[in-house]
This record gives sequence, structure tokens and C-alpha cells, in this order.
Amino acid sequence: MKRIGLLSAVFFLLATLVVASQPESGAYIRVVDVGAGLCCVAKLPDSHYMVYDAGNYVDKGKSAMKAIKEMIPDDATIDLLVLSHSDSDHNGAVPDICRDYKITKILRDGLERTTKVWEAANAAIVAKAKDEGCEDVNLKHNPVAPGTRYELGSASAVFVCGWYDLPKDWVPLHPNEQINARSIVIRLEYAGKSVLFAGDTVGRHKGDPDVNACIAAEQYMVSNISAVPIHSEVVIAPHHGSDAASSQAWVSAVAPDYVIFSCGHKYGHPWASTAQRYLDAGVPLLNIFRTDIGDNEALDPHDVDGKYEWSYGMNKEGHKAGTGDVGVWIRPDGMLTVSYLVDKSIAAKSWIVPATQPTVQPSTENECRPPAARWRLFRRHRCW
Ligand SMILES: [Zn+2]
Repeated sequence: MKRIGLLSAVFFLLATLVVASQPESGAYIRVVDVGAGLCCVAKLPDSHYMVYDAGNYVDKGKSAMKAIKEMIPDDATIDLLVLSHSDSDHNGAVPDICRDYKITKILRDGLERTTKVWEAANAAIVAKAKDEGCEDVNLKHNPVAPGTRYELGSASAVFVCGWYDLPKDWVPLHPNEQINARSIVIRLEYAGKSVLFAGDTVGRHKGDPDVNACIAAEQYMVSNISAVPIHSEVVIAPHHGSDAASSQAWVSAVAPDYVIFSCGHKYGHPWASTAQRYLDAGVPLLNIFRTDIGDNEALDPHDVDGKYEWSYGMNKEGHKAGTGDVGVWIRPDGMLTVSYLVDKSIAAKSWIVPATQPTVQPSTENECRPPAARWRLFRRHRCW
């Protein structure tokens, strides 16, 4: 009995270490499960840090802040805080980040909103700039040229695009599309690999039956590709996997090996049509990750009949916020690993592959092959 107790303790300790440990070298990017929102934390060599978006307003940015605290020491400086755009699901933890960390530079689109979340974030940023000399790069006053490079030690963050004043020649956009299309897109480069952070950028009108449609920001990025490359091994898919982005042309230009959808129980994210465009572009099925690790349709008021949401990877026992973080690790030699950081609390739950799964199967040609165990909870994919 004692022996079993000891073994259990050792197993528990090892499991805790596996879940909690972070790679010690290279670049490590954590896409935090913040529900229907976005927060990515990048821990880069030589104590450089970037945070891209600050999580959801629903939990007041708490899940985002918890992950940030786990990855960035209290006395460290965040080199770059990028706020893709002004929506509340991307700005929840801004006041807390400003309160707890030194920040060298904050990049934001500058659109003024009347939401409490935006007002709190704006006030915190303005105070941070005034009191501590943090550089507030507000695109309203300081447009940034696409291709501008921010050096973060041996890594770089490249400003791909982002606007306060939208280009006049874009097709008329819905007011919500206008907000999202401003999104600041960043390509993080390290060791010959790159990760693309696309905010809620716009590339299609949602539900457009034309699969070839490519508009607005994504059209700009595709046409500007010779000046500012967007090809990336990993893409944090725009707009939580909405059909309003990830246009076919843009997906082809990014040509990712891995796709991460940051999503929760809202708006049917990620849309099946969006996932299909990545699959059609040759992304292996098991190289697509989602922070909701499968949705419980009944909890999504926007997709009660399961009409839109991609159902592949559902967990039949539903989802619990905070359990679907995804880690991207780029080693100094360029080896890339993407994996779920699965919480022990869901380890006992069983996975199902729904009948509505896409017909496209993982490419056997792709050199970044997933492991044989299809539903291994802590799965690792390696790609050289
Ligand atoms: Zn969003």
C-alpha cells in the first residue's frame, strides 16, 4: 500500500513538472486559453519578452494574467506589448500588466472606444507612458511602416501591417469589420522560423460563398508579400477562426505547418469553413490546435445547432476555461515543437472524433508528421 502511495506521489510530481515546466532555451510562445479572446506570451532568449494581446474582459483578464505571471518574472521588463486592436476580448489584462511590469514599448491601433475595458486599458497605457517613460506607439499619431523590425535580443518582431486610418480603396466594410481590419499583425522570427500573430484581421466577408474571396487587410498582406513576408511555420489564426478571415489566398501565402485557433464558446469559432481552408492548403489535421480543445455546442449561443463550428476534436464532456493552452517551442537550432499543455483535470476525459469531421486527411507527404497516437493528451509534433 505504501509503495502504491509513493508511486502515486512520484507520478503526480512528474505530471506536475511536465505540465508546468517550460523549455529553458530558445523561444517559447504560449497561446493562453482565455476563452473567447486572445493572449499570447513569448519568452525569448536572454530574458526578452513579448506579449501579444491581453486576454478576455469576461474574467477581467485573469486567465491571461495568470499565464503572464507564470512566464515572466516580476522584476523582468516586457520589451513589447502589442494590442492588436481595440476589442475587449484582447485587452482584458492591460491595466494589470501595466501595474505589475516595466514595459519598454506598447503598440496599439489608437482607435478610441467607449467600452469600459478600452477606457481602463487606455488610461493605464497613458499613465504608463507619462509616469514611467514607456513608449506608447499609437498608430493614430505614429503610423508604423510595414516591415518595421523590433529587435528582441536574438528574436525579432516584424510589424506586418496595422492601421488607424483604413486604406480608402478597401471595399466598404461593416463597422465591426472596420474595427477588426485595423489589427496589428506581427511576425515573430527566431532561429529561421516564424510565428504569425494576426489579431482579428479581416480577409473575407463572413459567410461569403466565394471561396476565392480575399479582401481588406489580408489582400494587402498578400499583395505586399515581396516587401514583407508572411510565410510562417505557425499561425495564430486570425479572428479566432472566424470565416471573416483566413482567406484562401492569405492561407496559401502564409503556408503554415501548424495552426492555432484561440477560441471559446462564442460565435461558432473556429468555423468549419475556416478550418477547411487550412486543410485544403495542406495543413495536416493533427497540426491544427484549438484552445477550447473542442467545444460544447450547447454552451455557444451563436451556434446552438452546430451549424458553423468545426467539430473536429470535440471533447464530449465539454470544455473548461483555462485548460487548452498551446505551447510553441523553437529551439536555438530551429527545431520546432507545438503541443497542448494539457491540464491534469481533463486527462481522464475521453475524446471523440465527430462524424462531421473534415474529409481531408493528414498529408502523409508532410515531413512534419504527427505522432502515431492520435489522441495522446500531451502530444508533441516535431519539425526540422
Ligand atoms: Zn477577438
